[in-house]
Amino acid sequence: MSAFVTRFAPSPTGLLHLGHAYSALIASRAANAQGGRMILRIEDIDQTRCKPEFEAAIFEDLEWLGLTWDLPVRRQSDHLSDYENALETLRNRGLAYRCFKTRKEVADEIARAPHETPEGPQFFGGPLPRSEEQAFIEAGAAFAWRLSISEAKHALGEKFDTLSFQQQLPSGEIKTIAATPDIFGDAVIARKDAGTSYHLASVHDDALQGITHVLRGEDLASAAHFHRLLQVLLDYPEPVYQHHKLITDDAGNRLAKRDKSITLRALRAGGETPTDVFARLGLSGVKG
Ligand code: GLU
Repeated sequence: MSAFVTRFAPSPTGLLHLGHAYSALIASRAANAQGGRMILRIEDIDQTRCKPEFEAAIFEDLEWLGLTWDLPVRRQSDHLSDYENALETLRNRGLAYRCFKTRKEVADEIARAPHETPEGPQFFGGPLPRSEEQAFIEAGAAFAWRLSISEAKHALGEKFDTLSFQQQLPSGEIKTIAATPDIFGDAVIARKDAGTSYHLASVHDDALQGITHVLRGEDLASAAHFHRLLQVLLDYPEPVYQHHKLITDDAGNRLAKRDKSITLRALRAGGETPTDVFARLGLSGVKG
């Protein structure tokens, strides 16, 4: 078995649709072609939106497609202390700060941003003065943790300016892309409601699970810039990224979980077979 390890990492917030099937099949076929492995990971840190019935449906629908994956399946909500430890590492190095802003305040700030500072563009204003922060804490105000880009720049020095990641094109060619994690400003690494964020949990698990190739939709391509920074700060290994095209409907719109008609469930109930699904996706008829 080769060293190639990839993953399919759905969030159980709805039923899987054709877009998920495409992503899972691309990952599984790449693993098979390389004599490697595909890991299935349940990304359910958002406990308000994730539901056990959607998780069960993920297993059933992927099995129906003929996919196999390594067991046990990692469910992120079972491992929140791992992400807490990663956050603590960043906090101990002075790289994270509490953000008490409301959703509305953040949205307003993004609309106005970026603010030019001597350090480059900066969003979200950085940490509050100690006394103000203390007052918020004493008042029991909820807060998120953000990664301070300016502190990350200080910590990494020149290395920050030469950060890059490896991106594999559909042709197989691997390109080195200059990473610009500051485009997001100080991104959230632990949400108010979850104690972690997609970015931190995903990067942590990719490292823990030995993922060599991150295959996912191109809607997440820009996240690789920030993920690379987290990997360097946390001393995690560097995977190769491949971002595949998104499956759209006939009108060219991206599929969403609310489009019930193209869920794998609905297609199956309508009499379609996995081979029909492969054909819809422009993939050959071989299983898995
Ligand atoms: N859990 C994410 C989603 O369902 C995928 C994240 C990833 O592949 O990095 O969109």
